[in-house]
Amino acid sequence: MKTQKILILGSTGSIGQQTLDIVRSQPDRLSVYAITGRSSWKLLADQINEFRPAYAAISDSSHYHDLKSAVSHEDTKILAGDEAILELSGHPEVDTVVNSLVGFSGFQPTVRALSFHKKVALANKESLVVGGELLKPYLNGNYDRLIPIDSEHSAILQCLTGERPEDIAELIITASGGPFRTWTRQQLESVTVKDALNHPNWDMGSKITVDSATMMNKGLELIEAHWLFGLPIDHITAVVHPQSIIHSMVLFHDGSMKAQLGLPDMRLPIQYALSYPERWKLSSKTIDWSVVREFNFEPVDTERFPCYDLAVEAIRDGGYAPAVLNASNEIAVERFLKEEIPYIRISEIVANCLSQIRPTDSLTLDSLKAVDHEARLKAQAL
Ligand code: MG
Repeated sequence: MKTQKILILGSTGSIGQQTLDIVRSQPDRLSVYAITGRSSWKLLADQINEFRPAYAAISDSSHYHDLKSAVSHEDTKILAGDEAILELSGHPEVDTVVNSLVGFSGFQPTVRALSFHKKVALANKESLVVGGELLKPYLNGNYDRLIPIDSEHSAILQCLTGERPEDIAELIITASGGPFRTWTRQQLESVTVKDALNHPNWDMGSKITVDSATMMNKGLELIEAHWLFGLPIDHITAVVHPQSIIHSMVLFHDGSMKAQLGLPDMRLPIQYALSYPERWKLSSKTIDWSVVREFNFEPVDTERFPCYDLAVEAIRDGGYAPAVLNASNEIAVERFLKEEIPYIRISEIVANCLSQIRPTDSLTLDSLKAVDHEARLKAQAL
């Protein structure tokens, strides 16, 4: 059996740590070639000491010396800065890049890894939201280059295995509804950071948890599905399913529908992205059908959660709109987490940026970066 050598971008985050769990349980199949973190140098040092990868990089260079002195051996070459992370993404020894960076910063490493013929296990949905158009040449309806880690998209991929693309009628993405599913509009006006970080089913990083609370996350996931599976946005919908057991569904032209089910545990989609198209044993709890269970469904309430519609409109508009949506949302979420703005301002800031920044020139990586920057400045100033 050939060992898959992996690079984990963002190994100190929630997905990164769970990826290392998978590596621990699959020592014959997976080995860690390199890991990177942003600023959590203590945890990164612990991981380097345990896994002894060939390389490690910290993007915040100011922690380079702290990190180096906390590493107990010399087997690992330690690098610093975003350039190093980009460099590692195309390293000849790497088979698979697990991209669990947060936000637009994950885009360039994805492009680099794909252009160097790596397999990319993608948790960084912003890569597809912002630059889906530019990543199109790498997609082409074959799913073994860019494999989603996002649980909904992993579910869709599992439903599509063995099916022909032309037989798909609709993708139905499930949503937990987040912590404010039952809150009134008035209650939403006084949401605190603590309320927003209290997700009912999933334990995730803070950016995505806030995105779940505004339902921007579901909007971003619609865009992600559009690029991954090549379906028009009008054939992709979301439905709220508070139990988070059905992870998504696919409707075929003959009226048959497939769903993928499981208890909420991100290790399954992470491992599936690494094992695809195989399945490996994973010790995890499974659904106990001997107890009574209820599955509920309700439509997304776009009045209370306007971010969802903003995302759908952005992908309909196309061009730079998804990039503006993403950048302004990243900044608005950051400002909410710093308690600079209330929760309900997040959607207003994004809507404002979308209506004010409308470049029409053709899409390139450089112009995408410029628009991303402009939207960030605008969202910061509003
Ligand atoms: Mg998801």
